[in-house]
Amino acid sequence: EKDTMMEEDYVFKIVVIGDSAVGKTQLLSRFTRDEFCFDSKSTIGIEFQTRTVQIARKRIKAQIWDTAGQERYRAVTSAYYRGALGAMLVYDITKRHTFEHAARWVDELRAHADKSIVVMLIGNKSDLTGVHGRRAVTTDEAAAFAEEQGLFFSESSALSGENVERAFLRLLQEIHANVS
Ligand code: GDP
Repeated sequence: EKDTMMEEDYVFKIVVIGDSAVGKTQLLSRFTRDEFCFDSKSTIGIEFQTRTVQIARKRIKAQIWDTAGQERYRAVTSAYYRGALGAMLVYDITKRHTFEHAARWVDELRAHADKSIVVMLIGNKSDLTGVHGRRAVTTDEAAAFAEEQGLFFSESSALSGENVERAFLRLLQEIHANVS
């Protein structure tokens, strides 16, 4: 197909960070392959997946890196952050401690990533927050934290797909606005 032969105009490296089991891998596979896999666990080691989208008439290849479990051993290295233009900082809406650790992840970014990195805070697993849901972090407090830290913010569900595409596209648009 002719379209897929075309070269991209930009490659944007994006890192996905946050505590273990918040849904980082599933968000990535939802965005790049529109898949959710109930029992996936990748092997240890840095991996990335790509998806090319069009923004403002430019073809942008998002190269999205997954910690692949390294965060469990606090072993996410500066190589992981090198060259990253964007970050998805993910917590689990139903697990309060994963939100409380977000500040630590922001510090990690400030220490290792480029100063101009665009960061999107993601409250994942919104599918679990219905009437009898298990919400442990309100939308307001997360939005306030994001504003105070200069992060974009969205709640999403890798399981249902809600807001996943929108959040990644927003991040890519903001990066594109910075580089163009
Ligand atoms: P990671 O360790 O942050 O990469 O997390 P995973 O992507 O491996 O997901 C951890 C667990 O949460 C798995 O059992 C997933 O099936 C589940 N999970 C991930 N995203 C969602 C979601 O949006 N909703 C629900 N209900 N479960 C999810």
